[in-house]
Amino acid sequence: MLVQKYKEMLSGKSVIRELSEFATARGREIGYENVFDYSLGNPSVPVPREFTDEMIHMLANQGTNELHGYSPSLGITSVREAVAASLEKRFGLPYRREHIFMASGAAGALAHAFRLVTEPGDEILTFAPYFPEYGPYVNLTGAVLKVVPPDTERFQIRFDKLEEMLTEKVKAVLINTPNNPSGTVYSGETLERLSDLLRGKSAEYGHEIYLISDEPYREIVFGGVEAPCVSAFYDNTIMCYSFSKSLSIPGERIGYVAVNPRCREAETMVNMCGQISRGIGHNCPPSIIQLAVAKVLDRTADLSVYETNMEILYKELMELGFDCVKPGGTFYIFPRALEEDAKVFCRRALDYDLVLVPGDTFGAPGYFRMAYCIDTEKVERSLGALRRFVSETYR
Ligand code: PLP
Repeated sequence: MLVQKYKEMLSGKSVIRELSEFATARGREIGYENVFDYSLGNPSVPVPREFTDEMIHMLANQGTNELHGYSPSLGITSVREAVAASLEKRFGLPYRREHIFMASGAAGALAHAFRLVTEPGDEILTFAPYFPEYGPYVNLTGAVLKVVPPDTERFQIRFDKLEEMLTEKVKAVLINTPNNPSGTVYSGETLERLSDLLRGKSAEYGHEIYLISDEPYREIVFGGVEAPCVSAFYDNTIMCYSFSKSLSIPGERIGYVAVNPRCREAETMVNMCGQISRGIGHNCPPSIIQLAVAKVLDRTADLSVYETNMEILYKELMELGFDCVKPGGTFYIFPRALEEDAKVFCRRALDYDLVLVPGDTFGAPGYFRMAYCIDTEKVERSLGALRRFVSETYR
């Protein structure tokens, strides 16, 4: 007999994927250039030249077994060393290769982090609005994802609600800053307060509460915004990083787990990741990709277009009277819809070939997400459609 829980998931397909499929189908009718597809968080900027050059150089000069063979289960030693050195230099924490586990993107890193610190039935708390894939990522481990309601003023943390929900069952708190979908960057004040609370509750309950920090947008921060290093605030932090967005290589599936060197049993935790990967088959990310990212650790794609797009959209949204927190990073913006039911709002927007994602998907009904990882020229062309949509539907 087939396993019901996976079969049942077939009827709950990702809303984002469905909207993206709609956009593709509509594109076939009217030309994709005429569909203002703000649905999918797929990076649009080119991969940095250095990454491609490194790949070409390796393929031309290195042995095929080294490039295409299995990597050690924790990742290639020289790559782990390079990642640790880069983190130490950047954040001032004493990372060594023993703290690094190479993984298949943030998804792979998170899959290990959840299994490191939770048993089935344990709770993981996260904060709305949140990346909807956290649902399956967590719940299929047997742990239970609970969502703290949003702070709609600034999309920081509602500490009153967090304190209520932070019971003895909670073994980890999952944060994502800069955040998908709100674009918010958690402030130092927020992280300090969160860390104090977790330290206090860990002592009270007599067990560690880990902070799992999902950081695929760490490098996409806009001018004037400071993105504090989460691990610097809290010793029991498990950083889950991905190169998907910083280097525009989501298809290569590469990232890492970095356990805070100050975390008790940090090295054991990394070794445990090697064992977890045996069980879940999320093991040994491609050797050639590990070697290539290690060469460009301190580089990024040219991410400036995301800030340009954000400024254009934010200005227009404000002029049109939307209530919207200005993003500090990522390539998402999360305004309040112009009617209570954001699903209806987004459905009406489709008449103008504007593909927007309702906030219900992210645990924040009444809002909608625009993923502006598209060409600036298209963002500019979409403004007319946005204006017409608003004036013809809501004025
Ligand atoms: N976490 C967040 C918040 C994301 O937005 C994404 C992808 O969009 C992921 C994790 C998964 O990233 P990856 O492609 O590195 O697995």
